[in-house]
This record gives sequence, C-alpha cells and structure tokens, in this order.
Amino acid sequence: MQKYSAFSLARNAISGHKNWSRAWRSPPLKDRYEVVVIGAGGHGLATAYYLAKEFGITDVAVLERGWLGGGNIARNTVTIRSNYMRDESIPFYVKSVEMYEGLTHELNFNMMHSKRTMVDVVQTWPKLRELRRRQLIMDIYGSTYEQITTDELRKRIPALTGGGPVARLPIICGMVHTDAGVNRHDAVAWGYARAADAMGVEIHQQTAVQALIRGADGRIEGVETNRGTVRAKKVVVAVSGHTTTLTETAGLKLPLRTMNLTAFVSEPVKPLVDVIVNCPDSGFYFSQSDKGEMVIGGAPDMGQSFRRDIKQHVFEDTVTAMLSLFPSFKKLKLMRQWGGHLDIAHDASPIMDQTDVPGLFVTAGWWGGYKAIPAGGLTLAHLVAKGEPHPLMASFTLDRFRHLEFVMEAGTTTAR
Ligand SMILES: Cc1cc2nc3c(=O)[nH]c(=O)nc-3n(C[C@H](O)[C@H](O)[C@H](O)COP(=O)(O)OP(=O)(O)OC[C@H]3O[C@@H](n4cnc5c(N)ncnc54)[C@H](O)[C@@H]3O)c2cc1C
Repeated sequence: MQKYSAFSLARNAISGHKNWSRAWRSPPLKDRYEVVVIGAGGHGLATAYYLAKEFGITDVAVLERGWLGGGNIARNTVTIRSNYMRDESIPFYVKSVEMYEGLTHELNFNMMHSKRTMVDVVQTWPKLRELRRRQLIMDIYGSTYEQITTDELRKRIPALTGGGPVARLPIICGMVHTDAGVNRHDAVAWGYARAADAMGVEIHQQTAVQALIRGADGRIEGVETNRGTVRAKKVVVAVSGHTTTLTETAGLKLPLRTMNLTAFVSEPVKPLVDVIVNCPDSGFYFSQSDKGEMVIGGAPDMGQSFRRDIKQHVFEDTVTAMLSLFPSFKKLKLMRQWGGHLDIAHDASPIMDQTDVPGLFVTAGWWGGYKAIPAGGLTLAHLVAKGEPHPLMASFTLDRFRHLEFVMEAGTTTAR
C-alpha cells in the first residue's frame, strides 16, 4: 500500500500528482471466494478489513451495488459517542470510540477526527432522570458524562439564547460527554477500502446481489448478482436498510423495520459552536463542520419507509425546534437536505449474528451505526472467522428476540 505522508505529498506535488497509485483495484470478479460481504458501507468494509488483518482471511469479496461508501455512511451526520444506557452497549461503544481515535494512524488515512464533546440540552425532568441513570452506568465503564448548570451551558454555547424561564420547555441543565467527536465519513470508507484491498480483499462496485443461494442442506452457498453467480460458504449481509429484502430471498425473516432519518446543512458561517449540541427533548442535534456549515439532524419519521428524501413536516418540526433554542439561526440559509433509510430492531440495538441459515451472517439494526463501524467490523470479523461471538457483541444476537432478552436502547437515542 502506498504510504501517505508529508514526504509522499511533496514528491507527488513535484511530479504534478500524476504518479499516485490507485487507492484500490478493480479486479475481475471470480466465481468463488471464502467469504462474500454484501455492501461496501462502513460495516461491510470494516468487516472485510478486520477479517484480513486480524484473522488472515483475505479471499474475501465485498460486493456493492452502487459505489463504495455511497450508502448511509455518506448520508450520516458523523456523531461519534458512547453515552448509551445498557451494560451490554456501553463497553461496545467505548471500544468503537477508542478505535476511531486511532484510525488515522492505523489506516494511514486522515480521518480528520475531531474530539469535540457532546452537550445535551436538558429540558424535561424525565429526560434528566434518564440521562443521570446513563451517567451512573457509564461511570462503571470509563465513559464520561457530567451534569452542568444552565449558566455553564449558556457560557459553553453562547448561541443558545432560547429556552429561558418563560419558554414552553425551559432549559433545566446540560449533560457533557467529553468522549464524543466527529470525523470525515468518506475517509472512513476510503481508508478501510484501501487498507483491505492492500491485503488482498477484492471490492466489486456496481455489483448488486439479487438473491442469496441456499444448498439442498439449507446452508448458504453463495449469491446471485447482476454479474453472475458467486459462491461462498460464508456470506455477510451488511446492507443497512435493505437487510430484510435481501434475507427474505433466503426465506429468512428478521425482526427489523426500515425507517427514514433525515439531515440538512446550512451555508458555511464563521466558527460559532465548538461542541456537538444535542437537544433530545426538542428533537434535534447539530455540529459545525470544518467548512463552517451547521450539520443538523432531526428526529426520525415514524412510518416504515424506504425513502431517501426528507418529508416536509419532519423538516419543519426540526427547524421550528431549533429556532426555539437558537433564534439567531433564523438568518442561516439552508443549502442541502437529504435522508437515508435505516433498519431498526424493536429494542433499537444492533443484530450481529449468524442466522438460522448456516454460513449466513448479518450486521443490521444500525440506527446510529456510524459510531459503531470500527468495533462492529472487528467483532463481526471475529464471529465469521472463529464461529463464536466476540465478548463485546455477545448480547446482540437474534436469540434475544426469541427469549425476550432485549438490550433496550429504544427511547434513549433519537430512535424511538
Ligand atoms: C441522516 C442520517 C444521519 C445519521 N447520523 C448518524 C450519526 O450522527 N452517528 C451515527 O453513529 N450514525 C448515524 N447515522 C446512521 C449511520 O449512517 C448508519 O447506521 C451506518 O452508516 C450504517 O452503516 P452500514 O455500513 O450498515 O450501511 P451503509 O453505509 O448504508 O452501507 C450499506 C451498503 O450496502 C449496499 N447495498 C444495499 N443493498 C445491496 C445489494 N443488494 N447488493 C449489494 N450492495 C447493496 C448499499 O448501496 C450501501 O453502500 C445516520 C444516518 C442517517 C440516514
């Protein structure tokens, strides 16, 4: 793999940037691999990378129906945090946040990681009780969460001028999560793709999987694609909102529904807010990008849907909520708006498991799954390679729905 460094940048500048090697190859598609990973989003690419790096499994094809990194990883608002509620979740997300912090070095690709703290603006007593409960559990696992007063909150975020004593929802206090950060989503996809490719993993773009193939014994045998049949004894489904449509081709129903989540950005402005602001009672969050844009996300649209645009009423609700706390944002021009379709399980926790179809693995239910990409990839690769779950993901099984052992994060994130 070509090393990226100040030296290589200078050398390539002298030669007019004509001699950079391609970041990944486009090899011919073989008809058989040891492992097929469907979906070149963050989870698919990270799984392929850790299969090669940690377990020496390099006969891997990642099949992507569009272009790599063009799914939800391209549509998300890049909030990385570990302030979850359950004993099963927090260590997993703590690990993922830690891995993100070292990813630039590990992949030799600038992730533009910015550890910038998340501040929750608390406006109701039930929310405060829930966040304080999270704080106590997070303490056990070394994740940071701390309550601050309204005055401290307003000092920290000067643009927060709404939510005064006579507002419909006056601000009660803030909660500060210093481990949170943001980074560059394209870099995550490209960095994992480049490093996986360098170890022999093949990435095939414009290769849509149309159906999963099962043998007479019920085991997975491979996949049918728009470019022909590809055989593999192990197949990983990492297709986000499309999980159920794909697994149904193998006669497998999963406890997931697909919903639409939206975001939008403002015009770039001078540095105004240096933390990620989350307003769970009002239903929006935002951070300021390096370019100066406000990157704003709202609550999900509650209906099941595969749409990737933004519904007008969701957009209006989010803007109204934001202006009630940040009235000066009224002057901001909005530049772009978009949505993505994500699958979510009943308890809003992920599913990373081998399914009832032997050899078929899924990584799904990633409602806020960008932050989970490093740990998700590492732990799923462990399961695929060794046939046994990594301790950090041992609770995120399909069996929990059979035994009603939910890892209930519903209601504690933007996921309702
Ligand atoms: C508006 C919005 C904001 C978000 N904000 C955050 C956030 O701040 N923090 C956070 O942690 N998470 C956030 N998320 C969630 C996050 O984006 C997803 O959980 C994460 O990207 C899922 O990663 P993935 O690899 O599973 O899916 P994706 O990145 O969607 O990758 C799946 C890939 O599979 C491909 N594919 C689908 N079907 C097939 C097929 N049949 N054959 C071949 N390929 C196929 C798709 O083209 C896609 O490239 C947000 C999501 C949205 C939509």
